[in-house]
Amino acid sequence: MNSKKLEYYKNKLKTMENDILENIKSETIDEENPFEIDGDLVDRADAFNSATINEGLSASQKKMIEEIRRAYQRIKDGNFGKCSVCGESIEEERLEAVPYAEKCKKHMNIPGK
Ligand SMILES: [Zn+2]
Repeated sequence: MNSKKLEYYKNKLKTMENDILENIKSETIDEENPFEIDGDLVDRADAFNSATINEGLSASQKKMIEEIRRAYQRIKDGNFGKCSVCGESIEEERLEAVPYAEKCKKHMNIPGK
C-alpha cells in the first residue's frame, strides 16, 4: 500500500475516532463538571482515556476505539491493510467500509488474532 493511501485510511480512522469522542463529550460532560480540553485529537483522546472513557462509552464504542487504535499501530508497524490470517492484502472495498479491518473477506469470520 502506498503512503498516499495509508494517509487516506489514517484520516478515515481519525474521523471515526473523533466522531466517537465527540459523542462522549456531549453526553457525559455537563456544566457542573466543565472539562475543557484543547489541543489535537491525541491529547483529547488521552484525557478521555483517563477521565470519562469508561463511563461515557458503550461497549461497542469502546470496542471500536480499540480497533481503531490497533489500526494506528498497524499503520506504524507497516502491517496495515494486510490480513492477519493469510497475510494477503485486504480488499480495498472492505477497507473503505471498515478501515480498521484486520482480516480479508475470506477470513473475516475467523475468530482470534
Ligand atoms: Zn485472509
